[in-house]
Amino acid sequence: MPTFQTVRGMRDLLGEEAQIFAYIFGKARNNAQVYGFKEVMTPLVEPLELLSAKSGEEIRQRMFIFKDLGDRQVALRPEFTASIARLATTQLKTEPKPLRLFSVGSVYRYDEPQKGRYREFYQGNFELMGSSKPEADAEIILLTNNLIRTLGLKDYAFKIGQVGVIRGILSQNGVDEKVQNAVLQRMDKKEYDAAFQLLNDEKSRIMLEGLLKIKCRNWQETIDQIKAHVLGYEKAEAAAKNLFEILELVSKSANLTINVEPAFARGLEYYTGLIFEVYIPELEIAIGGGGRYDRLIEAFGGDPTPAVGCAVGIDRIAIAMQTQNTILQAGEGKKVVVIPISEAIRVEALKIAQNLRVEGVTAEFEVMGRKMGKALEDADKRKFDYAVIVGEREFNEGNVVIKELAKREQTVIPIGKLIEKIKS
Ligand code: AMP
Repeated sequence: MPTFQTVRGMRDLLGEEAQIFAYIFGKARNNAQVYGFKEVMTPLVEPLELLSAKSGEEIRQRMFIFKDLGDRQVALRPEFTASIARLATTQLKTEPKPLRLFSVGSVYRYDEPQKGRYREFYQGNFELMGSSKPEADAEIILLTNNLIRTLGLKDYAFKIGQVGVIRGILSQNGVDEKVQNAVLQRMDKKEYDAAFQLLNDEKSRIMLEGLLKIKCRNWQETIDQIKAHVLGYEKAEAAAKNLFEILELVSKSANLTINVEPAFARGLEYYTGLIFEVYIPELEIAIGGGGRYDRLIEAFGGDPTPAVGCAVGIDRIAIAMQTQNTILQAGEGKKVVVIPISEAIRVEALKIAQNLRVEGVTAEFEVMGRKMGKALEDADKRKFDYAVIVGEREFNEGNVVIKELAKREQTVIPIGKLIEKIKS
């Protein structure tokens, strides 16, 4: 018989890894709740037309596309934003604004698999729709920061830009939007020569090269320099001013490292304003990112609705937590195994296990019918904290034996004191 493997770029998640993922999902949900984001669940398979409408060439070329049995062109979602924008133009069209929507789940891109880059990966996604104000952008950065911080990551930084600066320069110089998209895509990959070659006019090239050269000590100075550089390019100036307002709001209400990069671009075509990514020093790839997309909902047939959102890469956050040793915080408390000494006492032992679970203690009941020695050996190997051994004699006196596996110490305690002892 052949042995089966997962599809390239897709993984089984087991044991501690699965636990970390579930932990991150939980924190993402909690973060959504404290920022007032309501969870929505959308289909994994969407019409190709919806997904390819505005994602950008880059993602379009990396989608898992197929025909269903009804001959419809469909694809696995490469991100959540298109699905959420669809919702905003249909079921949620008449909902009062702003909409604050959260989703978490798997997404699919035909990327070249390597550490931190998979073809099936997980995102936590937040979209805030209905406001064009810098307050909304600030909320998205703040919630991203809060999520990363509550996951225990300490060393990370926000790389921030405003696509309106580059687009403002190019459109004032008459570069059409298709060329702009291609230029931004190359710049996103840091292929600056290739990007500039797409530009016929010297003026645009000099302006973009100038942006690349701006290097300052802090984000305030960087934005001042951008403003000076784009003087006379009205839209670019407005974009720089907008970025300043957002970052002032953010930096005055939270502690985070902000690096403004004047020539920063992102692959997705739909961005119209703020763009950002989050990095940790140990990884060259971003653990999260987002931005403002004011025209997407309109392009999907909805009313003009400005929006801003972000997605964190859960797989990469798991790697970041491992590298920054924050994994321990994901621990679930004490683990207990409950072992009846004989069959005659198994009902009572099972009841004790049940009570522990009701109190929120992780308890496994011995289901293999093993002798105590073997069951203890297994509990030791699997790093349980306690074994609760239920024997007839002790039970009849209202007691059980509790063994602290790491210390190899055991004591007889009243059943009523068990929870207190385990939780202490
Ligand atoms: P994007 O939707 O491109 O803005 O991506 C948002 C986040 O998803 C990124 O910051 C990454 O953390 C994560 N991500 C993107 N592509 C991959 C991938 N191929 N494998 C794992 N994580 C990814």
